[in-house]
Amino acid sequence: MESAVSQPLSQRIQKLEESATIAMAQKAREFKAKGIDVISLSLGEPDFKTPRHIQEAAKAAIDEGKYFGYSPVPGYLDLRQAIADKLQRDNGLSYTPNQIVVSTGAKQSIANVFLCLLDPGDEVVVYSPYWVSYAEIIKVAEGVPVPIMGTLENNFKASAEQLKEAITDRTKAVIFSSPCNPTGAVFTRFEMEAMAEVLRKHPNIYVVADEIYEHINFQDEHVSIASMPGMYDNTVTVNGFSKGFAMTGWRLGYIAAPEWIAKACGKIQGQFTSGTNSIAQRAGIAALEGDMTAAREMKAAYQRRRDLVLELLKDVPGVKTYVPTGAFYLFPDVSDYFGKSDGDTTINNASDLCMYILNDAHVSLVTGEAFGAPNCVRLSFAASDEQLKEAIRRIKESLSKLN
Ligand code: PMP
Ligand code: GLU
Repeated sequence: MESAVSQPLSQRIQKLEESATIAMAQKAREFKAKGIDVISLSLGEPDFKTPRHIQEAAKAAIDEGKYFGYSPVPGYLDLRQAIADKLQRDNGLSYTPNQIVVSTGAKQSIANVFLCLLDPGDEVVVYSPYWVSYAEIIKVAEGVPVPIMGTLENNFKASAEQLKEAITDRTKAVIFSSPCNPTGAVFTRFEMEAMAEVLRKHPNIYVVADEIYEHINFQDEHVSIASMPGMYDNTVTVNGFSKGFAMTGWRLGYIAAPEWIAKACGKIQGQFTSGTNSIAQRAGIAALEGDMTAAREMKAAYQRRRDLVLELLKDVPGVKTYVPTGAFYLFPDVSDYFGKSDGDTTINNASDLCMYILNDAHVSLVTGEAFGAPNCVRLSFAASDEQLKEAIRRIKESLSKLN
């Protein structure tokens, strides 16, 4: 029950939206606790276990008995060196450990960066549809998110022309994820070069390139914008372990950036959280230096499931799809159902449709509104073939009741 006592929360927190991905996952858990068989396709998290050699490295670190104290705020030096080696090897990027800050998930990395770069009123161009937390983190940092919208016909990729038009005197930064959450879109080298071409003319604008789905890319090539001519000094590359190594609960992410930005991020992290979990950091070294077979197998499984879901959805009328080339999400346009009703419930928007599907089909999805795209819903295909087949069967049945 709400307390009658006044609750004078700050304006800052009152303006902040709850994370829709996390809220929907919580709803699904509540249904499950009541004994309802919910298929949860809402939370973006791998359904695989962390590869065995990474688990073993964490156990070994505990047994060594050396890693129980605070770690250096930006992360252990040997982890930062392993990250620098990875960036050189995989992405053609040269960084020293001083340019790297390890954080409690890429989520904290992104928060650090915006808190360090933005002054009140600074604008951030956000490639849309965007991951839920970008807009909210920007707002907490007193910045203004300026969305540029991709279309379904273009696999949801906004163009360089749109970027150019969105830039104003107040633009301080640009953020995108590639592969993208929620659409699975991946920028090609050509598209990234067009983006870089626009940004090279604006040396006061910083790019936050979120590459957390790097290892879940069904296209041939992962391109880091920091490796393009003229971009290194203006780019913060964000990456992490949650997705590619199935390590969401370990909470380990990082940035690689110009040293002055890394230093500032270390400063804020030193006041907020300190160095992230020591044992997770030791596990992170094993992930970066170890065998990538498990990561490749997970990627192949996601690609196969993407094809399965696309095939199954061909039989569901009114769900407009495209082919995601990375990550583990499909973000179909479901606006054909807006205005329809099953007799009791009228569907006015994507949020209504998600609630209807949760209540009627017992499948949890996330409304596109949370990602800046109100005609769509997000479906995570990080689930077993059986769950995906059953989920789409149930969704189809529930949608068929809407007229
Ligand atoms: N960026 C994107 C695009 C994401 O989907 C997520 C959510 N997993 C994150 C960053 C944050 O990941 P984490 O904090 O688990 O490293
Ligand atoms: N990023 C994942 C998602 O989009 C995990 C939940 C979250 O951190 O928002 O579902």
